[in-house]
Amino acid sequence: MSLKFVYLDHAATTSLRPEVREAMLPYFDEKFGNPSSTHRWGRQARNALEQARERLAAAIGAHRREVVFTGGGTEADNIAVLGRWRSACRSTGGNGSSPSAARGAVVCSAVEHKAVGAAAQCAADEGAELITLGVDEDGRVDLNSVMEALHARPCVVSVMWANNEVGTIEPVAEIGARCREADIVFHTDAVQAFAKLRVRVDETPCDLLSLSAHKISGPKGIGALYIREGTQVLPLVHGGGQERELRPGTENVASAVGFAVAAELAAAEQEEEAARLGALRARLREGLQQIVPELVVNGPAEHVLPNILNVTVPGADQEGVIIGLDLEGIAASGASACQSGTIKPSHVLAAMGRISDGDAAVRLSLGRTTTAEEIEFAISAFGRVIEQLRVEA
Ligand code: PLP
Repeated sequence: MSLKFVYLDHAATTSLRPEVREAMLPYFDEKFGNPSSTHRWGRQARNALEQARERLAAAIGAHRREVVFTGGGTEADNIAVLGRWRSACRSTGGNGSSPSAARGAVVCSAVEHKAVGAAAQCAADEGAELITLGVDEDGRVDLNSVMEALHARPCVVSVMWANNEVGTIEPVAEIGARCREADIVFHTDAVQAFAKLRVRVDETPCDLLSLSAHKISGPKGIGALYIREGTQVLPLVHGGGQERELRPGTENVASAVGFAVAAELAAAEQEEEAARLGALRARLREGLQQIVPELVVNGPAEHVLPNILNVTVPGADQEGVIIGLDLEGIAASGASACQSGTIKPSHVLAAMGRISDGDAAVRLSLGRTTTAEEIEFAISAFGRVIEQLRVEA
């Protein structure tokens, strides 16, 4: 096989699509204006920004007034959780906030990305009661525990649409429906779900939803928070009035344009691409299981993203596997993206009860550029790495 390098870390980040780059380029050059300026350069940039907002909103079934551009998924998650908590602290009513709950509780699942987990912890440091929803061995949140948590009248419930480490799809429609019945604000982090699943806020009862461009072949450093009309959040940074004062600072016009193009393409191709990736993932799973029979798949057989495969190799050294794969030309991840580089035990696998010392957990994540040939290459490389580690042990 002639391949030398295979990138199987698309859940960490993706390469920019050519169409996205093309759309962005003019905004670095002749169309460089500041959207807040009133002259023609400014108006040109403002138009581009508002068009991007409109296109992104349409891709998720939102109204453009409900989309706030942020500096990425992390920032969107922080505004949703911490900004929501701070708003509830101030508010004497509004959507889901409960003044009687003495500033209230913040609810999130045990498998959230650190962007949500750390924001919730920050709210706890400011006085919130932090309620963590446990998950089953497949990483799924139990609806009964959500119902239980709603008794605390939380100011926000945050459960991710799909998990970044194991790919588990959470029952967000059901959780959102319960929150809505109880008049509690529901946030979902759809950073990994968008483009892999059908993510539409007009079909799903959620009040806040986070997105990130670089996971869908858009640029890094831009994301968006969908804020359903009437949902109250406070900004985390202060300055000018941009983005309805929720994310002040001169807007990143080029990236907003790129994000909108990436989102439009991703939404249009979602069904077909999910089927293609799902078939590749199934082949990868089957191939790895054939070559390493003791391999354990982390995450459910169904209700799982079509592009993430997380496996445990019992008795193998985690760092050895990741480094071995790297030497074979395969990019994989030993933990979530933010932790990769320094391989740390995963809080997600721990919450699923699937961590044990001396086992290697590896995430392989597929994307737009992944081919069948790459999957075959990865399967045989994986086999060689495990065999080598066994010889060395
Ligand atoms: N949420 C999830 C589920 C993610 O996977 C990531 C990125 O790894 C983030 C949030 C953070 O997004 P960003 O890298 O745009 O800050």
